[in-house]
Parts: sequence; structure tokens; C-alpha cells
Amino acid sequence: MDYFSKMSDAEYNQFIEDIIQKKSLTDDDIRSMLSATDKAGLQRMFDAAVSVKNHYFGNDVYLYSFVYFSTYCKNQCTFCYYNAKNKIDRYRITPEELRTMCEELKNEGVHMIDLTMGEDPHFHNKPENLLEFVRIAKEVTGLPVMVSPGVVDNDFIQALSKEGANFFALYQETYQEELYEKLRAGQSFEERFQARLNAKAAGICIEDGILTGFSKMKLSNGEPVSPSVSDDIESAVASIRGMQKADPDQVRVMTFEPQPGTPLAGTTQASDLMELKVISVLRFVFPDRLIPASLDVAGIPGMVDRLNAGANVVTSIISADSKLEGVVNFDRDVSLNERKRDAKSVIEKLNEMGLARGSQENFEAYLNRNKSS
Ligand code: SF4
Repeated sequence: MDYFSKMSDAEYNQFIEDIIQKKSLTDDDIRSMLSATDKAGLQRMFDAAVSVKNHYFGNDVYLYSFVYFSTYCKNQCTFCYYNAKNKIDRYRITPEELRTMCEELKNEGVHMIDLTMGEDPHFHNKPENLLEFVRIAKEVTGLPVMVSPGVVDNDFIQALSKEGANFFALYQETYQEELYEKLRAGQSFEERFQARLNAKAAGICIEDGILTGFSKMKLSNGEPVSPSVSDDIESAVASIRGMQKADPDQVRVMTFEPQPGTPLAGTTQASDLMELKVISVLRFVFPDRLIPASLDVAGIPGMVDRLNAGANVVTSIISADSKLEGVVNFDRDVSLNERKRDAKSVIEKLNEMGLARGSQENFEAYLNRNKSS
């Protein structure tokens, strides 16, 4: 029987209490949870994760506005639409365009502005250009700012800290190094990990993230990406343990979605059930941390599933009339006015679910509490 199906009600309640008290799970506990198939047992797992989330965050949900300000990138990640070799239309917005966008974003009800870029040399090699963007976003919106600049050196991170950047997002994607090399081709595993540590040491909150859905990944010749590491459960166990090492303030998982024009384009899309299970396990392993429900994989219906699995943040919110891209962009072919990943649509759905936009004060208290811990 599945991990949660076999528990009595008393054991189930004790499990939730133990997790709230930060009792650790073993690797076998995690394996057993992730291999669950029984519907009732899965529902119990999702409900337990929501109970733990409620203990720490109540009904509050935090919202991040996604500003993908440059889709240029020098890297060749095999899973990514924006990898340097993909022949796609790209853009880089100007400081004036960012200022105009931020004027609109400041009244939308989001808690943080997420400034994301590919490793675009215009910013990556010239920190002053990114620092100017952080300054504009903070000045115009008065909100905390997350930066996702890729791997940058410690001087760059110190400058971001000085400029007031609040969050540094950098996803390892996997802690199985053999698989990492296939995904983030030509990039150092260690340098990526170290950049996150440097940001934390500089007083910036950090986010790490992993992918799931590897078992379906295939290269264009039909070969599995990496036969020895294609098991999604073992991969998730290794990656959850890897993420714990840097004590991140926010942890995420996303289902790999095959992207046109990339080496993994021919892969079959995995269902997002494993992502939902991993979200619950993340809630058990990181009970008091922020866990996103991204709109980028399955829009608002997908957000509902992820919040019901234990997430408490909504990311990849894009204004109704914005022409900017998401990262995975499940809705790339959808017209702008049908896209529905704007803050108003999100807040309406939260209210229908009995959840609420959390206060800005509580969100900033979270950022500061972790800054000083
Ligand atoms: S994942 Fe990031 S670093 Fe890798 S190719 Fe895409 S934009 Fe560039």
C-alpha cells in the first residue's frame, strides 16, 4: 500500500505534526511518497502538504510578476527554447521600456518583480546594465526585486546586494551531475552551486529549482538522454537532498516541457503528476519555505493543482497586454488577450479557492526573517 494509504487517522495526524516540528524524512520515505499511485493516498498526501503550508502561511499566497527582459543567451542548455543555437526571434528591452512596464506593474497587486534574462552578454558581461534595471524596478514599483541573471561572479553578486536586490534565483535543474552535463551542456555544476551560496552570504534570499519528467526525455536520434539517471524518482530524491545543502528560501520544481528547435524537441511531455508529488514532498522537507506554483506549465488550472499540493506562491504572472515571453511558455501560440496569466485573473481564482493575496508586510517580513537567519 502507498505511504499515506496505509496510515491510520492518528498516524496521519502525527505525521503532519512531526513535519511541522521539522522532523526529517528518510530517502525511502520520499521514494515511497513519490511512487504513490492510489488516488485516495495521493489526495491524503496533497492534503497533508496543505495542512503544513497552512500552519506556516495560512491562506496567504504571494504573487511574482515575471519580466523576461532579455531572451538573448550565450548558453546551449539542451532543454531551453532560448538556447543560443535556436533560431528564434529575440528581444532585449531598454531601460525606458522597463520603466514604463514598472509604472503599470506597481498597481497590479504583485509582491515582487522577477527580473529574468538569459545569459545575455549585454548584461552578463556588464553588471552596470543589470544594476540599472534593478534600480529602476525598485524605484518605480517600491517592491522587492528578484534577479535571475544566470551564473555571475561574487563581485557581481556583491554589487546586486548593494543595489538592494532581494532574491537571487538560479536553478540547478538536477543534482545528478551526469544528467546536469546533458542538460546544462558546457556549464560548471560547481560554479552554479557556488553562485547561490555567494548570494546567500551577501544577504540575498536564494531560490533553487529542479526539473522533473526526465524519464521521457529523448534526444533527436531517439536515445534516452542518460539511461543511468532517467528515473524521475531517484532523480528527485538526489535533487531534493542537493537543494537542502544551501538552505534555500524558495524551492521549485517544474515539469520538463519539450521546446521546438532544441535537441530534446522530440521528447514526449510527461504528465505533471510527478511535479505535484514533488511539490508536496518539498513542503514536507522545507515546511516553512516559499514554494511556487508556476503559471508557465499549465496556466491557471495548473496553478490550482499546485496550490492544492502545498505551494504558496504564484510565479510567471504576466500583464494582460504584455508582449514579453514566459520561460516554458505553454501558451506561446495563444493570443495576448487570451493568455490569462495576469494578476487580476490569478487573484480572482485564489478567492474562488478560499485563498487570498497575502499582505505585502507579511511577504517582506519573510524576506527579512530569512535574511537575518
Ligand atoms: S536555461 Fe537559461 S542559461 Fe540555459 S539556454 Fe536557457 S536562457 Fe540560457
